[in-house]
Amino acid sequence: MIALYIISALVPLSLCTGFLLRESSSQLTRTQIQSLDGLVRSFGMTLLGRLNGADDVLKSIISVPGRTDNDIGDEVGKLVWVRSLRRVAAAGQPSEAELPPPDPRQVDNLRAGKSAVLWDTDERGNVQIYLVRALPSGRWLYTELNSAWLWADASDYAGDAVLLVLDAHAERLNVTGTPPAGLRPADLLPSPALRRTDAALAVSPASLPRGWFSRSWEMFLAGSYGSPSWQLVALSRHPSLLSDSNEAYLYLFGVIGLTILMIAWLSMTSIRRQLRPLGLLTQATRRIAQRDFDAFRTLTWNDEFGDLARSFDAMSDKLRVQFAALEALAEVDRLLLCTPELELILDTLLPRIARLIGCSSVSVLLFDPDSSEHARAYDYSVTQHEQLPVRRITTDVAALRALCEQPSPPLIDAASAGSLVFESPTDLSRAATIRLQALKHDGDCMGVLCVGYGGEVAAGEDTGISVADFADRISLILTNLKQAERLRRQANYDSLTGLQNRQLFSDHVREAVVAAEAARGLGSLLYIDLDHFKRVNDTAGHMAGDRLLRVVAERLTACVGEGHSIARLGGDEFAVLLASIADPDNARRVAERILTGLQEPITVDGRQHLVSASIGMTVFPADGTKLEDLLKAGDIAMYHAKEEGRGRAVFFQSEMQQTLIERMKLESGMQRAFMHNDFALHYQPIVREGSAGALAVEALVRWPGSNQSPYLSPTVFVPVAEENGLIVKLGEWILRTACAQFTRWRNDGLKLEYVSVNVSVRQLREPAYVLTLLSALAESGMRTDELQLEITESVLANGPEVERTLCDIAGHGVRLALDDFGTGYSSLSYLRKYPIRTVKIDRSFIQGLPHDVAACRLAESIIVMCNVLEKNVIAEGVESDEQRQFLRGAGCTTLQGYLLGRPMEAADIPGFVRRLRSTLGAEAPAESAATGTGRSQRA
Ligand code: C2E
Ligand code: CA
Ligand code: CA
Repeated sequence: MIALYIISALVPLSLCTGFLLRESSSQLTRTQIQSLDGLVRSFGMTLLGRLNGADDVLKSIISVPGRTDNDIGDEVGKLVWVRSLRRVAAAGQPSEAELPPPDPRQVDNLRAGKSAVLWDTDERGNVQIYLVRALPSGRWLYTELNSAWLWADASDYAGDAVLLVLDAHAERLNVTGTPPAGLRPADLLPSPALRRTDAALAVSPASLPRGWFSRSWEMFLAGSYGSPSWQLVALSRHPSLLSDSNEAYLYLFGVIGLTILMIAWLSMTSIRRQLRPLGLLTQATRRIAQRDFDAFRTLTWNDEFGDLARSFDAMSDKLRVQFAALEALAEVDRLLLCTPELELILDTLLPRIARLIGCSSVSVLLFDPDSSEHARAYDYSVTQHEQLPVRRITTDVAALRALCEQPSPPLIDAASAGSLVFESPTDLSRAATIRLQALKHDGDCMGVLCVGYGGEVAAGEDTGISVADFADRISLILTNLKQAERLRRQANYDSLTGLQNRQLFSDHVREAVVAAEAARGLGSLLYIDLDHFKRVNDTAGHMAGDRLLRVVAERLTACVGEGHSIARLGGDEFAVLLASIADPDNARRVAERILTGLQEPITVDGRQHLVSASIGMTVFPADGTKLEDLLKAGDIAMYHAKEEGRGRAVFFQSEMQQTLIERMKLESGMQRAFMHNDFALHYQPIVREGSAGALAVEALVRWPGSNQSPYLSPTVFVPVAEENGLIVKLGEWILRTACAQFTRWRNDGLKLEYVSVNVSVRQLREPAYVLTLLSALAESGMRTDELQLEITESVLANGPEVERTLCDIAGHGVRLALDDFGTGYSSLSYLRKYPIRTVKIDRSFIQGLPHDVAACRLAESIIVMCNVLEKNVIAEGVESDEQRQFLRGAGCTTLQGYLLGRPMEAADIPGFVRRLRSTLGAEAPAESAATGTGRSQRA
């Protein structure tokens, strides 16, 4: 800044100085020219005057009559201005060679009695000037002029200048002063053209050294003396204001230096005057950044900076308040992050609101979610400086909502507010005016922020944060807390039923186990699985299934009671934690309550569902200490409950573990066997008595399982295959194998009525089952009525889909037989409804024949009923002849059992048939190439 100041002063100063210097220089030059002009002119006139004077004297001496040359010589010789005299004969040429001869014009002049001026330079370079005149004798008198006299006061005239007297050939006649080096005198002569116009003109300054100039004057000698003119030249240096000699420099630079100094001083003081407040302002800004708001309190300037300081103070005051407000909010945010409790947050927030807004009381009212007249109130008393206990109040929620949701927040007087909200003697009820501000969540007013003022409300709340801002912040807090609660529920509770999820449940189990171990007590975990829940999903849809699960959850909660953890583990599996029980019987009682509680049918979408559950009961710490172990034990026990016929509760026992392991072994072994094609089919004859040859076979699957027993009973592995689904693929293999075998026998000439194949419900539920069936028949080339499918009664209770499949099958002409009749539902309506062609009386009834009267009556009635319904009847498991006799008597002639034939390999069937027919004495069947070479069976 200082530099700028100096430059801005120096530039005009130096321009001005330069201009003045130039002007005065040229003025000086002009003066110098005039003085030089005067100099040469006056010196020239003086010279001429001297010459003329001398000439006059000479003339007068000579013209005195009668004088001889010698007289004249004597007289002249006495004159001061004569240096020497010579007389020469006037022969036109001086006799002495060293004297300059007159030229013809001068000769004429001399003869005419005039004088001539002649000059010459000797060998030493000295100039001799002669005034020549004719003597009366006719000779010429050469008077050498005394140069000291002639040039006497040249130096006075010249002064500082150099004065040159040159002849027409630029010979120097006289030099006064020291001419500059390298000067050629010829250049000093004015050009002829110039000479004619003005004698005193500057001569070619080009040849002059720099800094010099000249003026000249022509001394005209031709008229009086017949000689060429002399040129008087004065040379001078250009005049300069700042010559080294004078002190102009000193002054000039002194003045400039002084100016700079003054400017520097001036600028520095003025800059400092501005910089100091600026510096203070900067410091104050920094201090504000460090929350120090006392910037210029002590300053008392009265200029513009004073104004600035005062408005800065005002601003920092505002900032102080706003910072405080922001800090309050930041504090709330911090609290919100670490304490998810509303009361704690309001503890911090309400006093700050009171301080920042300058009110006399602050209250937050939160409406109860499901009530139109109840709310909780959190109050802060300014007078007591403390948070008052939370109040439950009764208020008109709808009126309050309407009031505080007006576009501009209402400011109401205490009387009308008190009637609405504040029946208790809080500060708020004593306030003069009250401002209400809605607390909103998703557009809903869920509460009110009430700010009470003692007197008039301050016109402008200048904190930068208004009541509305605080209301917004509290709304945000409430929303956040709600969100956090929702997330907590999502993370810990099952969304469908609202029960605990595995996560939370496992926490509770862990705590309960630790507590039980510490107290050397017991606890129990019940593992609950609904029976046949899948059917509900399949028949009524998943929505109905979900609704049913919700009802089940409610019933579980009702049965178990508050204070116990109930969880949905997934699907239709639930778990109940009884954290502390006196003895295992407590667990059983709870389990039985649950079973009873579930007995009542559940109605969903107008449809009734019968729900039962199987419960596995475990006791900890005996059955396990980790959730996983307990759940596994519960699962095993539950599985046993299902095995035992569902709808019951079973305690876990350690042997169950073994059973489970064996079952798993069985499953994997079965998978392997199927892959290795280890399964085989045996066939058992079904014989119709009376009509010899009317013969069928039932295909029975065989698995050459472990090493010790040749065959593992299908009653063991088929249910397992049904459960794990392998039966679908295995069943298809059985069907195709049986059909292929049937055709092979026919091709071999063995005539059989049909082959009967057992089908499990799992197969019938496969959508593609009918296609599989038809393709098996088509592949083997069988007629459809040469195949019989055996289903159990439980299959019939499977709903409309299976019913349709069965009708479809029967529609294609395939025979359907109802297996194990009498052990299941034995419903007559089923028999009528389904296209069943044949009923197989279960072996258990046949066993008691003919001695067990009840069995006899039952067998008889089944046979009669079937006759009425026009169904064929087959008696299964006929082992004795007595049984055969009885059955024959009762009207059942189609028999199956060891008495007639055990299940046998396919290769043994032709031999068996041949023997049977021969014993019955019937005519030999058409079969020819009966290749029955295998082990024969006892018929
Ligand atoms: P089921 O369909 O009732 O088959 C008849 C069972 O009774 C066969 O036992 C047979 O060997 C046996 N049996 C026949 N006559 C007599 C007799 O006079 N006295 C005695 N004590 N038993 C006799 P198996 O072969 O052990 O089959 C048991 C059950 O396994 C079958 O009962 C059937 O429900 C199932 N099963 C067998 N093979 C298959 C199959 O290929 N597919 C399906 N889904 N189930 C099969
Ligand atoms: Ca069967
Ligand atoms: Ca059977």
